[in-house]
Amino acid sequence: MKIKAYGQSDVGRVRSSNEDAWGVFQDLQFFVVADGMGGHAAGEIASHMAVDTMRDFIQSSTQSSEVTWPADVDRNLPLPVKRLVSAGKLANEKIYHSSRSDPKLNGMGTTMVSVLIDQDTAYVAHVGDSRVYLIRNEKIQRLTEDHSLINDYINQGLLKIEEASQHPLKHVITRALGSGLKVEVDVKTVPLAHGDAFLLCSDGLSNLLTDEDMRSNGLDSLKDPQTTCQRLVDLANKKGGEDNVTVVLITSTKS
Ligand code: CA
Repeated sequence: MKIKAYGQSDVGRVRSSNEDAWGVFQDLQFFVVADGMGGHAAGEIASHMAVDTMRDFIQSSTQSSEVTWPADVDRNLPLPVKRLVSAGKLANEKIYHSSRSDPKLNGMGTTMVSVLIDQDTAYVAHVGDSRVYLIRNEKIQRLTEDHSLINDYINQGLLKIEEASQHPLKHVITRALGSGLKVEVDVKTVPLAHGDAFLLCSDGLSNLLTDEDMRSNGLDSLKDPQTTCQRLVDLANKKGGEDNVTVVLITSTKS
C-alpha cells in the first residue's frame, strides 16, 4: 500500500488570522488537522500545540517499550489506538495547563482530527467538530461525529440536518482539547483498501461544502492530492470563505 498525502490551509475571506493548524508527517504515517479557538493569538497557539504535541508523542511511541503512557489510558487497547488516545490526552493537558498559567491564553482550546496508518489499517481519532471523510468506490462517508451542540440537537430530534449549517449556534462545540483537565478521544478503526482517500478538514470547509462537493472534487485526489486540496480551498472561498479553511488528503494506492 502506498500512502500519499498533502495538506493546505487558508485564512479564508473574512478572518484576519488563521487559527487552524495541520500536519502531514509522512515518515510517521501520521496526519492531523486542528481548529483553535480562544481569541487573539490563543487559538493559533492551541492548534499548533495540539499538532506539535501529538506528533512528538507519535514519534516517541514508535518504540512502545520506551514510552510512559498517560495514567488514564487503558493499557489493553491495541497499540495504535493507545498511541493516538495518549497523544490526544497529552495535547489536552498541555493546552489546558498553558491556558491556566497565562491570562492571555485563558480559555483557549482546539478541535483535533487525526489519522494514524499502521500496516493496512487506518486509525481515526477526533475531538470536536473537525471532520474526517472517507471516499471509497466513488462514495463518500463521514467517519467522525461532531462533538457539537447542533449535533446533540439533531440526535435528540430537535433540529433537522438541513437546518444545521445556518444555525446561529453551529460553532458551539461540546468537546475540545484544552477546555478541561481530562478529555475523551474517540477512535475508529478502518481497514485500508486500495483507492481510498481520507479527507480531514476544519469546519471552514465542511460548513460551506456539501458532501457531494467533497466527493466529486475528492475523486481526483488519487491522482493528485495537491491540486485537489487547492480546488477544495478555492471552492470554500468562492462560497464565502467565512472561516479559516484547512484540508488534509491522504490516499492509498497499490504502488
Ligand atoms: Ca473553524
